[in-house]
Amino acid sequence: MSTHAVLEWRNGLPYSTQFDDVYFSVNPDYPQHGLAETRHVFLQHNHLQTRWQQLPADKPSHFVIVETGFGSGLNFLAALQLWQQTAPPTAHLHFVSIEIAPFTLQDLQMAHAHFPELATISQALCAQYHLLQPGINQLHFPSFSASLTLHIGDSQQIFPHLTLQADAWFLDGFAPSKNPQMWQADLFECMARSTHAGTTFATFTSAGLVKRGLQAVGFEVKKTPGFGKKRDMLCGTWPVSEQLSPSPALPKVAIVGAGIAGCSTAWQLAELGCEVHVFERAAQIANGASGNPRGMLYPRLNAEKPQNDQLAWRSYSFTVRHYASLNLGEHAFQICGLLQLGSSPREHKRVNKVARRYSHLGLLQPLDANQASNIAGVTLAYESLYFQHGAWVNPAVACAHMLNHPKIKLHTQQDIQQLSPYQRGWRLVSHTGELDDEFDAVIVCNAAEAAKLLPESGMWLNPVRGQMGMIASQPSMQSLKVILCGDGYLTPLFEGQHAMGATFAPGDSSTDVREQDNVSNLEMVNKLSPQFDQLHTAVVTDARASSRCGSPDYLPYVGPVLSTSMLNAQNTPIHDFSDLPPPQGLYVHVAHGSKGLMTAPYCAAILARRLLSDFGTHLPQLTEDRFWAGLHPQRLLFKQLGWKSLLNPFTDQASA
Ligand SMILES: Cc1cc2nc3c(=O)[nH]c(=O)nc-3n(C[C@H](O)[C@H](O)[C@H](O)COP(=O)(O)OP(=O)(O)OC[C@H]3O[C@@H](n4cnc5c(N)ncnc54)[C@H](O)[C@@H]3O)c2cc1C
Repeated sequence: MSTHAVLEWRNGLPYSTQFDDVYFSVNPDYPQHGLAETRHVFLQHNHLQTRWQQLPADKPSHFVIVETGFGSGLNFLAALQLWQQTAPPTAHLHFVSIEIAPFTLQDLQMAHAHFPELATISQALCAQYHLLQPGINQLHFPSFSASLTLHIGDSQQIFPHLTLQADAWFLDGFAPSKNPQMWQADLFECMARSTHAGTTFATFTSAGLVKRGLQAVGFEVKKTPGFGKKRDMLCGTWPVSEQLSPSPALPKVAIVGAGIAGCSTAWQLAELGCEVHVFERAAQIANGASGNPRGMLYPRLNAEKPQNDQLAWRSYSFTVRHYASLNLGEHAFQICGLLQLGSSPREHKRVNKVARRYSHLGLLQPLDANQASNIAGVTLAYESLYFQHGAWVNPAVACAHMLNHPKIKLHTQQDIQQLSPYQRGWRLVSHTGELDDEFDAVIVCNAAEAAKLLPESGMWLNPVRGQMGMIASQPSMQSLKVILCGDGYLTPLFEGQHAMGATFAPGDSSTDVREQDNVSNLEMVNKLSPQFDQLHTAVVTDARASSRCGSPDYLPYVGPVLSTSMLNAQNTPIHDFSDLPPPQGLYVHVAHGSKGLMTAPYCAAILARRLLSDFGTHLPQLTEDRFWAGLHPQRLLFKQLGWKSLLNPFTDQASA
């Protein structure tokens, strides 16, 4: 991140030199003053304890807090502590916060050191507080049943696009006199739009412009005693004008395919409270490309296609945190750092272009060959990009971990051959006939086989055979400390072995292991370092071939599948996604190409929230609408139909 908060530490407390204001109030005689103020203003005046104690214990529920100004994260920590003490385990807290200049991790830890009673929660936050990027960042805390959605950017650009339903607002951030840009009409309008009967707000300020702004959009506003020496603060409610409608039931969902796409989607939905059934053709899960013993996690950027790059770095930032939060163990997930080598003229060009375009994001560091060699622990001859949080994962272990969830039921040896509309939902037909269960929604996650289940979707799926392998370590490789990626890749030593890969054969979907492919992989590894020139004698201890599934624009297909006959029969003009017929409960999540271990968990999180929104539960979204539109499974069909306004706003407009 290049836009961290500019702080001064005054008497051990953070002070913003940019806004000339404190992050939390202090009283030298009462070190817990800042925390007590947070509890008084935001927790008590939003009545959180009582409201959370009243959440239903016998069914899933959601509570959404939106905060302006994340700052030191103190309000989040205090809210999470109270949530842990009072909310039933079936409830999920969504804490959304908007911050223009986040603390560095080090500053965050220093600020939290003032509040030892929040130490455990602070550790959970700090463990995930990395790889933050401008835009929407999600940090998930499974053991607290909570997530933090951190919007990093200028609130004036964020408010107009924020779509959610808040239960409580924390109006924090710097005082209106110090930060007038934030306390504008667009904040109050956003609040009015994102609110329901009974939504509350609280703020430390009693400034007239805030009071008037809130009243003007419809809030009932009350002035009440502030904390400590502050005379007044404001709190209030969105009036209850009619009978409160009960929250809609969560959909029961079927997922076809238990690879990383299916398992991640199932887990996201289950974490949000849905009952999920996963159907897998094979006797075991992760039977396709997700069954390789290792996969690399880093954003393979190209500096040419904006949405592809955005998907890559957003996924990297999300997914590395996601796997870390699952606590898979070092046999299944290791953040060891990764060097992307400019090891051929084409890769050298790419490395330089990407370095110029993206160094400012702080996700990568361009290095010369000497610097790269020092980090790698082996001699390297190329300029490189260093990804400090680059990692490897064993996807089958991650899949098994995610499916081991009380809300998920796995059905193996079910070859799903047809999806039949049934009453208001769907039934699945497997090789044994029509299955009994009825579902509100079906998500097709079976990679290249999806075209058979959704023949009219217009998706174009391209199989690409790939073989990877494990090799017994050689003396020349043992000092390797990070993953090396050039045309091929090699991981550092773990349990006597390294992973190497991978061949790339477009149009071939065969999965037999070939000796020639082992040789090709060893040749690619040989080229990574001059130290590896004897590697052709290495013993390949294990090899696995499977098929990647790609799309023509290298973006996955994620989202609702609309009936083609309905689309063709559309006789009103289509200018916008809202002009399309509503989703019918049929979704797809496929075509992750060579990057699915990184992109699928992120897309799963996006899809789960969009799907719930289609069923009336409006949770904080993880992407802007235009990014979501770029992943639409029927984008090729829209192109054929000439609906230019629905095409990928990042790339397709120009070529349409
Ligand atoms: C050699 C190789 C190396 C790779 N390296 C990396 C890497 O380093 N990093 C990275 O991020 N990505 C990598 N990938 C890509 C990544 O593995 C894939 O993008 C990802 O695994 C795709 O996951 P998926 O869930 O979409 O599909 P799959 O893992 O293929 O899962 C599909 C599942 O659906 C099941 N299924 C199919 N049809 C049916 C049906 N009719 N009914 C029920 N079940 C069905 C299959 O049995 C399978 O279990 C690599 C791929 C290969 C081949």
